Amino acid sequence: MRTSTPHPAAGTTTAAYAALERGGPLVPWQFERRAPRPDDVAVRVLYCGVCHSDIHSIGEWGQSFPLVPGHEIVGEVTALGANVGGFAVGDLGMIGVIVDSCRACEPCRHGMEIYCREFPVQTFDGVDRIDGTRTRGGYSAHYVADQRFVYHLPKGLDPAAAAPLLCAGVTTYSPLRHWKVGPGMTVGVVGIGGLGHLAIKFARAMGAHVVAFTTSPKKVEAALALGAHEVVLSTDAGQMAAQAYRFDFILDTVSATYPMTPMIAALKLDATLCSLGIPDSFDFAPLMLTMGRRRLASSGAAGTADTHEMLAFCAEHGIVADIELIAMDQINGALQRLEKGEVYYRFVIDMGTISAGRGKAPAIPAPTP
Ligand code: NAP
Ligand code: ZN
Ligand code: ZN
Repeated sequence: MRTSTPHPAAGTTTAAYAALERGGPLVPWQFERRAPRPDDVAVRVLYCGVCHSDIHSIGEWGQSFPLVPGHEIVGEVTALGANVGGFAVGDLGMIGVIVDSCRACEPCRHGMEIYCREFPVQTFDGVDRIDGTRTRGGYSAHYVADQRFVYHLPKGLDPAAAAPLLCAGVTTYSPLRHWKVGPGMTVGVVGIGGLGHLAIKFARAMGAHVVAFTTSPKKVEAALALGAHEVVLSTDAGQMAAQAYRFDFILDTVSATYPMTPMIAALKLDATLCSLGIPDSFDFAPLMLTMGRRRLASSGAAGTADTHEMLAFCAEHGIVADIELIAMDQINGALQRLEKGEVYYRFVIDMGTISAGRGKAPAIPAPTP
């Protein structure tokens, strides 16, 4: 059914939380969300996941401030442009890391828009290809995006726990598929955070033997519960030495530069370590690549093809994130815990709280694995 109703945000201000300057705290802020264009879907944001990239963006990556982060969005459709098919008002729609691309280059034509040669339009802190305005993310009451980059929430998945699938989920699903992870393979997942915990679930569901690497002794038991067959404490030199030449593929989700040589040494001949964390630099001995003809690679979040495939996979296997639901005004404390790797395993903001409690932020409860 195609329906078009007035969008509540059109021509009105949209409540948001923004960093007003680089490195600043997130504070209540307001801006104008565009009215839907003919191909747009407008949503009232219900949930938004908190990605480590939000921290990088508020800090070193941000291009323009005020900056409204947030690219793991689940919302209720409130309005549709005249050309939109496939969505109805009231549907639950999901929006991830990118909201547009050139659509003509080879990666775009193959649904790999994240690798668009003109660079895709990021969901926040990007530049809209039509009107040149700065995109503002999901830490806001409403979002408006082209239908090509809006996805249906699969039936049976909890909307809050599904929100992180749109970045943390697809960013790990895509390389696991690209490197053909499956039965008979030994696969490592490094870093048990937002991305890493979903990577463990995916690799297990794909049939691999999954080994989690963590720096946090208190995550060992939890990693087994997530589906890892084994857990290695990566700060233990003896445990790391025992991993040499074991792995067919390692997916590294660490958000910082860390001593990577023992991790590369854990790869078999010709095997690949895919680093997703985009650190400022790498710390490893290049000889470790030469020995074993090993490969160091990376991967972007994903385009529309992998996102649709990942959502179908999650529906089939019942995969969602393990989340801690927070109120909007708890975000600054949440970012501090995320920075320390103390999240079990993804914060998701209940965006229904955005207009409430704008005073002093309540304390975040102590972390529990
Ligand atoms: P996260 O929840 O903070 O998880 C990162 C994990 O890395 C931590 O939980 C911790 O796991 C480990 N870690 C952190 N600092 C470490 C250090 N100094 N040494 C060793 N291990 C450390 O972050 P996330 O949201 O999953 O994101 C992970 C990274 O991926 C971020 O840098 C993010 O910007 C990036 N990212 C990239 C893409 C892409 O397109 N490639 C997309 C999304 C996110 P343990 O406690 O288990 O050790
Ligand atoms: Zn992200
Ligand atoms: Zn393109």
